[in-house]
Amino acid sequence: MNKGKRALVTGGAGFLGSHLCDYLLGKGLSVVCMDNLVTGSLGNIEHLAGNQNFKFIKQDVTEYLYLPGSLDFIFHFASPASPIDYLELPIQTLKVGSLGTHKTLGLAKAKEATFLLASTSEVYGDPLVHPQKENYWGNVNPIGPRGVYDEAKRFAEALTMAYHRYHGVDTRIIRIFNTYGPRMRAHDGRVVPAFICQALEGEPLTVFGDGSQTRSFCYVADLIDGIFKLAVSSVTEPVNIGNPHEMTIRQFAELIIRLTSSSSRLEYRSLPVDDPKTRQPDISKAKEVLDWEPRVKLEDGLKETIEWFRNKSFGPSPQ
Ligand code: NAD
Ligand code: UDP
Repeated sequence: MNKGKRALVTGGAGFLGSHLCDYLLGKGLSVVCMDNLVTGSLGNIEHLAGNQNFKFIKQDVTEYLYLPGSLDFIFHFASPASPIDYLELPIQTLKVGSLGTHKTLGLAKAKEATFLLASTSEVYGDPLVHPQKENYWGNVNPIGPRGVYDEAKRFAEALTMAYHRYHGVDTRIIRIFNTYGPRMRAHDGRVVPAFICQALEGEPLTVFGDGSQTRSFCYVADLIDGIFKLAVSSVTEPVNIGNPHEMTIRQFAELIIRLTSSSSRLEYRSLPVDDPKTRQPDISKAKEVLDWEPRVKLEDGLKETIEWFRNKSFGPSPQ
């Protein structure tokens, strides 16, 4: 069914994008990966070198895009995604969510390709509704430090719907909740790689605030499965994809210590500005319209991820 089809993955050298490239190649598509490597790495796609169906183009997607040949799908995943990254790269984050989404939507229109936007649970901000359903409009501080990411993604969603409504582009919007797995950067600051690396190195686990804020973690294989199901569906409204298994960050730290058999202790640090207090996806829509739900249990996904970090050499944490 997919043979002969061609997909562009922007941000394809990143954590999620590289897993998506693998998955699409496995389904028989040929894949073009476009990335400027600002937070991604060639290491994530080096195993694909020499694959006839795979091509890497180093390019900033906020610039004019030229890509000869037909395209059936565009997966727009380019964007800094960890709070540390988008706080260090605020303008680039705003540009890739706005200009980058504009360029890739323009390409989708020209190629008559299906366009899938990687949006985020951050569009709900620090939510006043729990769990978060797709019809919740969110509680975002537009001028706070996280606003650069949240508002870029909210703008990207608005632009995607405008191209759908006014240009008839076949679009999809996935709202991704915290996802983890192999190929996360050891020190990208997100809680999963941070705690795993700290535990493996015997360093204290840095719990922000009192650790009572909650998150719900989805294993990367489940997420990619959901992305593909959405891409081949006909659902043009946003869909939440994530794992509803919610826990506090303190409980998560204790779980990592147990799974790594580490002797690390917890060290409390100040809570970042506008850090959402709760987050849990309501996935009833994904279940209903995509017949999707996560399968990988948190402990199983974490064991895989811990094993991956154990086998990888990484430098000391930044102070
Ligand atoms: P990542 O940082 O590993 O990957 C992002 C990739 O985009 C990197 O390879 C980076 O080099 C590339 N990129 C950034 N700006 C670019 C530009 N202007 N031109 C070309 N390439 C550019 O992050 P990730 O976790 O893989 O996230 C991928 C996407 O999924 C992002 O859009 C992010 O907002 C979204 N998302 C991820 C999560 C998650 O839990 N991982 C949650 C919600 C949304
Ligand atoms: N967090 C933490 N210690 C860390 C990194 C993150 O306690 O070293 C907390 C962070 O404050 C947030 C949660 O873990 O409440 C998830 O953070 P992450 O950066 O992974 O993603 P977010 O969901 O905030 O985008």
